[in-house]
This record gives sequence, C-alpha cells and structure tokens, in this order.
Amino acid sequence: MSLTESQVLDALREIKYPGFTRDIVSFGLVRGVEIDGGTVRLHLALGAGNPAVAAPLESAATGALRRLAGVERVEVRVSSGPPSSAGLRMAGSPAPGAATAGSLDDGLVPGVRNIVAVASGKGGVGKSTVAVNLALALAGRGARVGLLDADIYGPSIPLMMGVNERPSVDAERRRLLPFERHGVRFMSLGFLVDPDSAVIWRGPMVMKAIEQLLGDVDWGELDVLVVDMPPGTGDAQLTLSQRVRLAGAVIVTTPQDVALADAVKGVAMFRKVGVPVLGIVENMSHFECPHCGERTDVFGAGGGRREAERLGVPLLGEIPLDAEIRAGGDTGRPIVVDRPDSPRTRAFESIAAAVADRLSADEGDAGEGPLARLRRRRSR
Ligand code: ADP
Repeated sequence: MSLTESQVLDALREIKYPGFTRDIVSFGLVRGVEIDGGTVRLHLALGAGNPAVAAPLESAATGALRRLAGVERVEVRVSSGPPSSAGLRMAGSPAPGAATAGSLDDGLVPGVRNIVAVASGKGGVGKSTVAVNLALALAGRGARVGLLDADIYGPSIPLMMGVNERPSVDAERRRLLPFERHGVRFMSLGFLVDPDSAVIWRGPMVMKAIEQLLGDVDWGELDVLVVDMPPGTGDAQLTLSQRVRLAGAVIVTTPQDVALADAVKGVAMFRKVGVPVLGIVENMSHFECPHCGERTDVFGAGGGRREAERLGVPLLGEIPLDAEIRAGGDTGRPIVVDRPDSPRTRAFESIAAAVADRLSADEGDAGEGPLARLRRRRSR
C-alpha cells in the first residue's frame, strides 16, 4: 500500500508548535507535502514565527515521518524570516525564502508599513482605550495611522470614535472603506459580525474575520496600523502573530495580580513567536482625587513596573483611573483629542512617542519618513 498525504498529515498532527498545545498542521505551518515513492518532501513555513523553532521542528518532523511504514527518506525544508527583521520589513514585502500562502507576504495590506498589536490577557483592562488613544497620539505627531478593532468579543472602537453607522463599500473594487475620525482611519469587526454570536467563535473563525478586515479594507498608505486584539493569549492571538508580520506588541494590564499574570503570559506568547514586545502599559494605575489630589492605589501599586522590570520590557506608561478617560471613550471624544492639554493626554503621547521611537529605530528610518520625524520631535 502506498503512502498517502493524509497519513503524512496525521503524523505531523502529533507535533506541537514548541511551547504551545497546538499542532503544526492546524497552525498552518505545513505548506507542501510531496510523496515520491519512499521519499517524503515536506515544506514548513514559519512566516513571522520565531526561527529558533526551525531546528526542533525539522527534527521532530523528520522523526515522525520516518516512523511511517513505507518511508525511506525524509527531506524537510523550513523557511522563515529572521526575528530581528520581523518588524523592520515593510509589511507586504516578501520574507526571505518564506512561503506565501495566506501570510501578509501575499500583500494583504501592502501599503501598511508597521502593524502594532495592542493586547491584554484579560478583558476590561482598558486595551481598547489605550489602542484608540495611542492611535490618535501617533496621528497627532504626524504619522499616517489606521486602527483595526479586532476585539470580536467586545468591539468598542465605533463607540469610542463616535461612529454608529455602517461602513460603505466600493463595489467596483470590492473594498470596504474605512471611517476617518480625528485623522485616524479605522474599521471594526463589530460592523461585520454580531458580537452575541461571536462569543462562541473559535480561534480559526476569529482569525478568518481578522484577515478579511486586513485584506478587504481600503487602508491605503499607513505608517502604523494599530490592531486592538481580542483579549487573551489563545488561538486567535497566536495565529495573528504568526500570519501577520507584526512590528511589535503593546501589552495592557491593570496593577492587579490576576491581570498581571495574564500580561506575563501575553509577553511570553509574543516572544515565542518572535514578535518584539514594545512594552507594557499599566492602566487604571491609581486614582487621584480631583478635589484634594490624594492618590489611591485602587488595584495595588507598582505591579506593572515590577513585572516590566522582571521581564526586561519597557514600562511605556502608567495611566490613572480617570473619569475623563472613561467619559471620552463613551462619548466618541477620546481624551487625546478632547483634552489635548491634560496630563492624561501627555501620558498617552509619551506612550506613542516610545512606540514611534522603537518602530523608527527598527526600520532604520534615519531619513525623512514620518516615523523618523516623530523620533526627532521626541528628542527635542
Ligand atoms: P478592554 O478593551 O480591555 O475590554 P476598554 O478599553 O473597553 O477595555 O475599557 C473598559 C471600560 O473601562 C470602558 O468603559 C473604559 O471607558 C473604561 N476605562 C478604560 N481605561 C480607563 C481609565 N484609565 N480610567 C477610567 N476608565 C477607564
């Protein structure tokens, strides 16, 4: 009986992506299987994944296939892009040697230079608030910015940006037109799916929807696309960081131990797949009494700084619990545009500056690119 492709795939399903419970077939790493008599040729594509996993995956795959009856020879090719350039390459340009199917290398968002994920382990910590104000602060400093609300379980960006209409479609080009408010183009999964039914969606469905938003929206030319990720460190987050060339991730947490523990998981997840962690934002860090100025550490003190130091990632900022931040989110006037002179706005601006700094440094953009301009502005 001759060997079949499904036998090969079944054998490969036994192999987990290092550090995860998910197997390499469902993860989408297998890009080609060729059976030639007793020889099996396998192509695994890491895409933006961590190249350090190439060697263990190659030997695991070789071992698993050799154990199959009828296999005499196994040739495994693993292609990947180096992690140091994961954030540097223009999104849309091919990774050296990477296979193309389904990755950003297909040119899913060819005009987008940097994709930054804003993530949190837990819902309700202020991830969307940070994503919106970060996007606005970047735009305020001269960058061309997009904002993609991929938080399928609680899409709140339309409310925060003050939009409650449906997006329009360019029927001829079959493209969805993003909204533009306060100089930021944005689109939300909330426009396309019913959040009540989305709660039962599994990782692959979430990922499909996110991919569609990336590919079918007319983003145009952007320096940065900020993606408000679904909360958690599960399949959807993992797949996004695998399929899309993320320039970096910003992790949002509150100082509470439970949130911090999830933030640590988030940092670990991005690191495993070779996505640079740009830093941690501690939100709802403390409360300052508007009358007497007294500070109360509602959720405990200094947790974000402590974890950031322990993990060796920057603490990008500490945003207090503040009625104006909440009101801004609820009324479609985020604090960065509504109260440009507030100290809260300055806190978001300094987070934006740190992010722009890192992106421009990674891009090696010493010239006249908008990110380089942002960097120079900050150093003044
Ligand atoms: P997530 O995206 O993590 O679910 P959101 O950004 O939607 O969280 O925030 C949840 C709620 O908390 C919103 O009502 C938001 O306005 C409020 N919120 C977020 N950050 C702050 C803050 N620093 N101070 C006051 N309210 C905040």
